[in-house]
Amino acid sequence: PLKRKIGTDFHPENGGCGSTDTGVKVIVRMRPLSSNEEGETIVQKTSSDSLSMLGHQFTFDHVADIDIFQIVGAPLVENCLAGFNSSIFAYGQTGSGKTYTIWGPANTLLEETSSSKEQGLTPRVFARLFSRINEEQNIHADKQLMYQCRCSFLEIYNEQITDLLNPSQRNLHLREDSKTGVYVENLTEETICCMKDVTQLLKKGLSNRRTGSTSLNSESSRSHSVFTCVVESSCKSVDGLRCFKTSRMNLVDLAGSERQKLTGAAGERLKEAGNINRSLSQLGNLINILAEVSQTGKQRHIPYRDSKLTFLLQESLGGNAKLAMICAISPAQSCKNETFSTLRFAQRAKAIKNKAIVNEK
Ligand code: ADP
Repeated sequence: PLKRKIGTDFHPENGGCGSTDTGVKVIVRMRPLSSNEEGETIVQKTSSDSLSMLGHQFTFDHVADIDIFQIVGAPLVENCLAGFNSSIFAYGQTGSGKTYTIWGPANTLLEETSSSKEQGLTPRVFARLFSRINEEQNIHADKQLMYQCRCSFLEIYNEQITDLLNPSQRNLHLREDSKTGVYVENLTEETICCMKDVTQLLKKGLSNRRTGSTSLNSESSRSHSVFTCVVESSCKSVDGLRCFKTSRMNLVDLAGSERQKLTGAAGERLKEAGNINRSLSQLGNLINILAEVSQTGKQRHIPYRDSKLTFLLQESLGGNAKLAMICAISPAQSCKNETFSTLRFAQRAKAIKNKAIVNEK
């Protein structure tokens, strides 16, 4: 079996280079009460990394708000340029702010004119990626540093993968080979050179999601969407040969974590509800196992293949990958149970420490 390290060296302040922090960062983001929610907020931020809820205290890596780009977006880009597979996941119940965080507030979602403070993580991450690539190329002009960025956008719904850049491609298959690792067969990949290219891809992909609505139980709230950018760089080394580096960035808007209602479901509908739960609960299982392995040091088989989501992202979940898990919560009384369960999930994720050696199949 292959020996792998679970994440090392992630640190937001220095872009993940050179520190001895963990591979998983857990950030909680609390949205404000909406106009139709009444009463007091039941969650209070008590410091930059902690909050309290009904007498329980929780501590994470950050409790973030508008500074979220500095905390997870900028490090994502630095980690990726340093050659690490790097991901941001948004986890939480429907309506807690995942879409707002990953793609941006609805009205500014794809407007190139909106100020960066108003934008979601994805547009800001790509603006930073392009400016950092420019900077690196200037700094290393003597090494003829070249970059190529390719993006894909997919949705996993009911354990089926759809290509959001070409939605006629449904039920795509996951494949694995020793050279490329895990990949989706026939998935569209588009080369991007500037923000306009990214905006066009996002527009196209987001309009192809199952439904635009985020109401509870809508199909979009029950699907995961994964926007991936493969960054390849090549430069001239001292001996005159060209060296190559490849890493990938994933921005993942997960399905709503609320319990799916199975009442009255039968046949296909029942199967579907089971499948929809499966990849999220499998992600939870993985988080538990990775946390246990890193705490006890005991080796365990990591069941990445048990769902499409974890199989697809296995190289971004373990090993030397960098993962920022944004757990979105609502402070409303009506969301009490789901908020509590999200905070518990976040605490388990935070228990994953670096430098644990695991066996992997
Ligand atoms: P989800 O994707 O988790 O279903 P959304 O991102 O659609 O949730 O958010 C639900 C609602 O809350 C939207 O109207 C969104 O604009 C609002 N919202 C979410 N997060 C914030 C935030 N941090 N600040 C202000 N409004 C927010």
